[in-house]
Amino acid sequence: MPTLISVCPSCDARNRIHPDRGTEARCGRCHSALFPREPFVLTEANASAQCAGDVPLLIDVWADWCGPCRAFAPIFEQAALRHAGRCRFAKLDSEAQPNLAGRWGIRSIPTLLLFRDGREIARQSGALPAPQLEAWLSSHGID
Ligand SMILES: [Zn+2]
Repeated sequence: MPTLISVCPSCDARNRIHPDRGTEARCGRCHSALFPREPFVLTEANASAQCAGDVPLLIDVWADWCGPCRAFAPIFEQAALRHAGRCRFAKLDSEAQPNLAGRWGIRSIPTLLLFRDGREIARQSGALPAPQLEAWLSSHGID
């Protein structure tokens, strides 16, 4: 089975992982979990490193004042647990990171951005109920 490159959420190191053992994989440099049980925080400092790699990165763009964002958060966290090893999950606080949100043309929140190999491959505006989120992920090859 081919190996995949997965970026460490803690130190940005590029790790080579076996897809069937990805869930428990740890970073070769800093020994943090490559698929933490909670989504990690995306910032301007780590965004370009984190959007790279073979394992897709799903970003929840949110803000504290946004009711639909807060309602969607537990759905996103459940998806992070369910798809650990096959997709990576990050949160982008659009208030804390206005430059990044601006560069990606975020016009409404919540917005989901899906990256692979440094490129945006899908975008979804508006919160999705859990079944629709699962269907959306599946339509982009994430199961
Ligand atoms: Zn690391």
